[in-house]
This record gives sequence, C-alpha cells and structure tokens, in this order.
Amino acid sequence: MTTLNPYIWAWMLLAILLLPFLVRIKAPYGRHQSRAWGPLMDNRLGWVVMELPALLVVPICFLLGEQNRNIVGYLILALWLLHYGHRTLIFPLRTRTRGKQIPIAVVAMAIVFNLVNGGFLGLQIGFAEPGYGLEWLSDPRCWMGVGLFLAGFWINWKSDDRLIHLRKPGETGYSIPYGGWFRWVSCPNHFGEIIEWVGFAMLTWSWAGLSFAVWTAANLIPRALDHHRWYQDKFAEYPKNRKAVIPFIL
Ligand code: NDP
Repeated sequence: MTTLNPYIWAWMLLAILLLPFLVRIKAPYGRHQSRAWGPLMDNRLGWVVMELPALLVVPICFLLGEQNRNIVGYLILALWLLHYGHRTLIFPLRTRTRGKQIPIAVVAMAIVFNLVNGGFLGLQIGFAEPGYGLEWLSDPRCWMGVGLFLAGFWINWKSDDRLIHLRKPGETGYSIPYGGWFRWVSCPNHFGEIIEWVGFAMLTWSWAGLSFAVWTAANLIPRALDHHRWYQDKFAEYPKNRKAVIPFIL
C-alpha cells in the first residue's frame, strides 16, 4: 500500500489544485443544469449509473483481498454499503425529479471519481498491510470516526429528505427549505456528507480515506456556495442569517 501512497497524494493534490476552478464552474445538474455540457440522460438513471461503481468497487476489492477479515474490516465495509446502498439504490428513486435530465459528461466524470476514490479505499481495506487488528476497536479514532460518519449520514439523509418533500409528487420547482439544519445553512445535505467522509477518514486513518474527504469537500463546498447564491437571487425573503454550508462559518 505504501507504493500506492504517491498516487493518492497526487490525486488529493489534484482536488486542491482544481478548487479555484471548481468554485468558478457551476456543476451543471439539478437547478444549475445546462445544455452546454452536451447530451443529456434521465436524471434518476444517471444517479444510479454514476454511483454504482462506488457501491461495487469496495466490496469487490474486499472480497479479492485477504486483509481485514475481522470485525474492523466488516465494520468499515458495512458503513460503506450503508452510504452507497442508499445513494445508489434508494436516494435516486425517492427524488421528485421525474422528466429531469443530467449531462452524460457529469455522469462520466462521477464514474471516474467513484472508481478512483473507491478503488483507493478498496485497496486500503482489502489489501493494505498490516491491516487493522482488533486493537483498533479500542482506539478513540475508530469510534470517533464511526460517530462522525453516522452523525453526518443522519444530517445528510434528513436534509435530503426535507428537500425531497418540498415537492408534491409530479412537481419539479423549487421553494425555500426551513427547519432542521436549514436553520443554519442552505445545504445541510452537503455539510452532512462532508462530515461523513471526515469520519470515514478518521475511522480508516488512511491517505485513501483523507483523499475521499478532500475530494468530497472540493465537490460540495463550491456546489453549496452556488446553491446559496441562487437562493439569495431567487427569493427576496431568503433568511439573511443563513450560511451556505458550514454553520456560523461559511
Ligand atoms: P441538491 O441539494 O441539489 O438536491 C437534492 C434533491 O432535492 C434533488 O432531488 C433536488 O432536485 C431537490 N431539491 C433541492 N433543493 C430543493 C428546493 N429548494 N426545492 C425543491 N427541491 C429541491 O443535492 P445534490 O444534487 O447536489 O446532491 C444530492 C446528494 O448527493 C446529496 O446528499 C449530496 O451530499 C450527494 N453528493 C455527494 C457528492 C460527493 O462528492 N460525495 C457529490 C455530489 C452529491 P433537483 O435535482 O431537481 O434540483
């Protein structure tokens, strides 16, 4: 695994170098969807297709590798499957986006993102030596990581759920979300997702985990800033004290 580290560092550096560009480009899906990004496909199918590689790549590496066939390995795998089982197979079908589309280019980029990030994590869990021993269960980083991951998952899920129910079945418009973590930020779903992957990085205590958290923040902080500005432009009555993504800070 140490031989992989330089590639993970380079991949993580790429996220940091791309950040100035990502804050200038609106990711062209959902409310920012644009025809300028080429051919489109069905939004919900697009979500399933782009998240499926992540759902599959980590369990496949785990099954092929010989490391971590213990409770620590299964715990890490279970949290991964919880997140990506939901994101791939449940979230897209719950969204009220019937008839909406997503650029195939976005789907393709997300597939690359998921294969590389998921691949590094899969190699970490399935193959990295010396692996996690049972003593990792008594390390505070393990349980702080699990706690942060589950807290982030809950914030993300509850916030996406609140957004989804702003629309009646068949509607596709936008309104101002209130309540829950929306009291503090415009995009608590993105905030929750970032917390989740910070927790996962802590739980796995690995460059692969840190790289995933950095890429998630690099994707979602610019998107949340775009959403925040969009709400402020669209709704004169938008709450003035609400931040974009990190309560009281950003
Ligand atoms: P959004 O907040 O843009 O949208 C979430 C859902 O709610 C969509 O179905 C959207 O519809 C709907 N929605 C959002 N705001 C409103 C509103 N004001 N009124 C009515 N409906 C609304 O989230 P994203 O699409 O950016 O992401 C979806 C999930 O995927 C999130 O949980 C996010 O954290 C995660 N994600 C993770 C990434 C990572 O790098 N790990 C990258 C990208 C996303 P519509 O699509 O029509 O706008």
